[in-house]
Amino acid sequence: MRTKLIAGNWKMHGSKPFIESLMKGMTEQLDASLESDVLVCPPTIYIPFVESLIGDHKIALGGQNLSEQAQGAYTGEVSGDMLKDNGCQYVIVGHSERRSLYGEMDVLVAHKVGKAIESELTPILCVGETLEQREKGTTMQVVQQQLDAVIDALGIDALQQVVVAYEPVWAIGTGVTASPEQAQEVHSAIRAHLRDKNAQIAEEIKILYGGSMKAANAEELLAQPDIDGGLIGGASLKADEFIAICKIAG
Ligand code: 13P
Repeated sequence: MRTKLIAGNWKMHGSKPFIESLMKGMTEQLDASLESDVLVCPPTIYIPFVESLIGDHKIALGGQNLSEQAQGAYTGEVSGDMLKDNGCQYVIVGHSERRSLYGEMDVLVAHKVGKAIESELTPILCVGETLEQREKGTTMQVVQQQLDAVIDALGIDALQQVVVAYEPVWAIGTGVTASPEQAQEVHSAIRAHLRDKNAQIAEEIKILYGGSMKAANAEELLAQPDIDGGLIGGASLKADEFIAICKIAG
């Protein structure tokens, strides 16, 4: 059985007062008996602050990005070891915003996944098609290419340490969610693609859905057999919404 993971990607939002109130809501409402894993990924600079607010609560911390380098003269970059050193267990890699706005190509994303693993972080590898690619019928080609770049660079065994997040670009921040059937179709195709390479990894790997997920649609999405959790943007900035999704995940 794959444990569900509910992850909040705060993107570039927040301030100390905002985060304090969000985390207060979360730590007060989060039921210690939840079986799912709960994760928050704040902007890098707030990671130590969030770590101090988590205290003993069962909430994991993650970064939103990391350098493909281990250390050195890379002004403005943050390494996997630095994230680890500041309490992170996870890091989001290859988010579509990094790919489209900061030019991160598949090969760079694969390097970053490798660096995350070296730093003993669990990379959350984001994949997903644009609306244009979906309309052209190339969704699975795009997603497979994004996955294969990592497999070619690191080998299939590396995926034992990886969480995949399927985030259709057209569903991110738009309020348009993939239907449960659309999401399940891609999740199951991802698992089938991996099964060809290693059946055990395909069975065990967590595949999260991301894109306008909220409390109102989480139940149907999380009920799909190949959806193992969510990577949540907007709704993770509201304690009530995020906790409601965590409770639905169980
Ligand atoms: P939204 O939930 O705001 O659509 O964002 C999804 C996302 O990009 C999470 O990484």
